[in-house]
Amino acid sequence: MFVVKIFLVALFLLLIADFLSTFLYHVPEHVFGKFHTIVHHGTNRSFVRYALITKNPLVLFNGFLGVLPYFLFIPWFWSISPLGTVLGLVLGELHVLWRHLSTNKWQTPKPILNLCNCLCITTPERHWLHHQNADLAYGDIFTFYDRPARSWLSFLWSIKRKYEQSIETFKA
Ligand SMILES: [Zn+2]
Ligand SMILES: [Zn+2]
Repeated sequence: MFVVKIFLVALFLLLIADFLSTFLYHVPEHVFGKFHTIVHHGTNRSFVRYALITKNPLVLFNGFLGVLPYFLFIPWFWSISPLGTVLGLVLGELHVLWRHLSTNKWQTPKPILNLCNCLCITTPERHWLHHQNADLAYGDIFTFYDRPARSWLSFLWSIKRKYEQSIETFKA
């Protein structure tokens, strides 16, 4: 029971954090923001490094918003299982590093690839698709967030276009 609790808390932390990060940060950021695309989809993937170069604290703040969902519920998860909370955070961080391995140098072994496909976990190969084309492969950790995220993306784009059109008509 003890082990199951640790595992479940870690899993829920990652599920909730990836959900919030995808729908409230990542997708809106592609439509309305600019820093995620410049930093995360450019050659320099570190918000810290980029903020130091540009001396723009907003960049750092933007990077912080992306990871905030991972920290929001720590007190709650901690009260259920501190070990599970730590495990979730460690796994989340390891996944960030893993999914950003360069696909030139890294190829996920077939058994792991099959396992990830079964468990709907994003592989470096899949995440690379998103870096190449921001319309594809959403869900930083879980692939089942991809479909609803892309619907959310087109919905937000339509809102933005309508807003821009109304501004245009207002100007005219
Ligand atoms: Zn990425
Ligand atoms: Zn992105």
